Amino acid sequence: EINPSELTFMKEVGCGQFGVVRLGMWRARHKVAIKTIREGAMHEEDFIEEGKVMRLCHPKLVQLYGVCLQQRPLLIVAEFMENGCLLNFLRQRGGALKEAWLLSMCQDVCEGMEYLEAHSFLHRDLAARNCLVDERNVVKVSDFGMTYVLDNQYISSSGAKFPVKWSPPEVLHYSKYSSKSDVWSFVVMWEIYSEGRTPFENHSNLEVVNEITRGTRLFRPHRATQLLYAIMYRCW
Ligand code: ADP
Repeated sequence: EINPSELTFMKEVGCGQFGVVRLGMWRARHKVAIKTIREGAMHEEDFIEEGKVMRLCHPKLVQLYGVCLQQRPLLIVAEFMENGCLLNFLRQRGGALKEAWLLSMCQDVCEGMEYLEAHSFLHRDLAARNCLVDERNVVKVSDFGMTYVLDNQYISSSGAKFPVKWSPPEVLHYSKYSSKSDVWSFVVMWEIYSEGRTPFENHSNLEVVNEITRGTRLFRPHRATQLLYAIMYRCW
C-alpha cells in the first residue's frame, strides 16, 4: 500500500478502460504511472484480495509498485513507460525500426508471457494496445487486469469491445481460457510485423468469428519473412 500523500500528480498520459492515467512522482524521486480507477469500473474486492497474493515481478512485465486503497477513487501505481503503448509506437515509429529490433520486441513479449504461464497466470487480453514501451524501446506486457473489468461490452464475447481478433475459437464459442489461448493472442507478433495495422481490417467481429471457425488465418505481414510467419502461424 502506497501513502497517497507521497504522490505528486503530473501530466495526463492516457485514458483506458478503468480511467485516466497520469505521470507522477513517488516520494519526489521516482517517476511512476498513476492509474485512477473510475467508480463502478472494477470488481474492487476481488482486485484487493488478489492484489495481496499477486506478486508478479519480471523485467518484461510492467511492474506494479502499489495501490492506494484507503480512498476512492482507488489508485494503482506502476512503473512509468516513457514511450507509451506499443500499438501507437508501431504506428508512429514502426517504419524506422530495423528488422532485428522488431524481432527483439516479439521476444520481449514472449519472455513476459512465459513468466505469466510459469506462475499459472492467464493474461486473457494480450494485444499490442496492452503492451508498453520504455525509454530504451524495451516492450513490457501490461494490463493483466482484464479479470476485474465490469463492462459487459468488454467481457462478453459478443460485446462490442471484446478482443475477438485476438481470440481462438474455443474462447469465442465456449469462453475456454488457458495459456494456449494466451499463445493465440500472440497476434501481437503480427501487429509488430505489420507496423501496427489492425488484424482483419475491414472485417466485423462477427465476420471474423465465422472466418476463424472455418480455418481462415491472418495473412503474412509485409515485413515478416516466411520463416517468421511460420512462427506466428503456429500460434493459431
Ligand atoms: P486500458 O486498461 O484500457 O488498456 P490503460 O489504462 O492501461 O488502458 O492505459 C491507457 C493509456 O495510458 C495507454 O495507452 C498509455 O498511453 C498510457 N499508460 C498506461 N499505463 C502506462 C504506464 N505504466 N506508463 C506510461 N503510460 C501508460
